[in-house]
Amino acid sequence: MLSLGIEGTAHTVGVGIVDEMCRVLANVSATVRPETGGIHPREAANHHAERVVPLIEEAAAKAGVRLNEVDLVAFSRGPGLGPCLRTVATAARALALTLDKPIVGVNHCVAHLEIGRGRCKCDDPVLLYASGGNTQVIAYAAGRYRVFGETLDIGIGNMLDKFGREVGMPFPAGPSIEKHAKDGKELLPLPYSVKGMDVAFSGLLTAALTLHRQGVRLEDLCFSIQETAFAMLTEVTERAMAHVDKGDVLLGGGVVRNQRLRKMVERMAADRGARMFVPEGELCVDNGAMIAWTGLLQHKSGPRVAVEETLIDQRFRTDEVEVTWR
Ligand code: AMP
Ligand code: MG
Repeated sequence: MLSLGIEGTAHTVGVGIVDEMCRVLANVSATVRPETGGIHPREAANHHAERVVPLIEEAAAKAGVRLNEVDLVAFSRGPGLGPCLRTVATAARALALTLDKPIVGVNHCVAHLEIGRGRCKCDDPVLLYASGGNTQVIAYAAGRYRVFGETLDIGIGNMLDKFGREVGMPFPAGPSIEKHAKDGKELLPLPYSVKGMDVAFSGLLTAALTLHRQGVRLEDLCFSIQETAFAMLTEVTERAMAHVDKGDVLLGGGVVRNQRLRKMVERMAADRGARMFVPEGELCVDNGAMIAWTGLLQHKSGPRVAVEETLIDQRFRTDEVEVTWR
């Protein structure tokens, strides 16, 4: 069985094709990179509309299959930016109707977790999902993926990107911040906001920008942002692992490309006698393969959905998904 998945919750439109063994036969994408300012939902949607058909063709060519050999069309139903979600859902519906194949809508956050489980062979991990718009600590309990902790304001990647934009770094700023942080020497005091299992980043962002205006070394500032924000994530992840008593931690989302974050979580895991797993880089960021794979799991275990039931959901919560495949 082959599944074709289309991702399009935010800045990236991606198309992936996977088989039942979680082999990724193709995974191609295009990302909006605004020259100034943040991502404009309508502009991002226009970008996705332009790119989605060529990407579908490119994915089929890369996988070496004809489109009518695909057995299932999956798409990202949410959470995400409304115009982007609607564009991608429309493409998925058109494709499913044209090919006369079933369609399934997938929760984006759950997909980050499932592709990690599928690729890394870790059965029951706690997921630290750290991306641009989302920051959540997720684990499975009694038929659902439960959110144990999450950001109370902005996603960690948004915090990094907003900081980077103000100090003149290109989008996305995460990689530049990581590079500058390597030459950081002094740990500057920044707000460390952990509230129970939750985190918050806007106070840290404001404080970092104030320090920047006061002329502190950029390298020290990047270093301090990373040390503070990543320690917050590591702390809530550890608390969730202790609470649900799970021995594996899985990383997902674009921010987990950061080597310093990986080191911190790896160290915490080792101290608890736990293991850390990270999927291949192109499967950490938003991608079509994770949607294809989660769609496949859902389709094989759950009821069929009619095209009329494929409405998008901008605020689709991780714990709304009934996990029929576990
Ligand atoms: P996603 O939303 O999952 O596609 O991830 C995109 C986010 O990952 C953006 O906010 C980037 O700034 C961030 N990112 C990418 N690479 C790195 C890195 N090396 N360190 C920190 N953040 C990163
Ligand atoms: Mg994501």
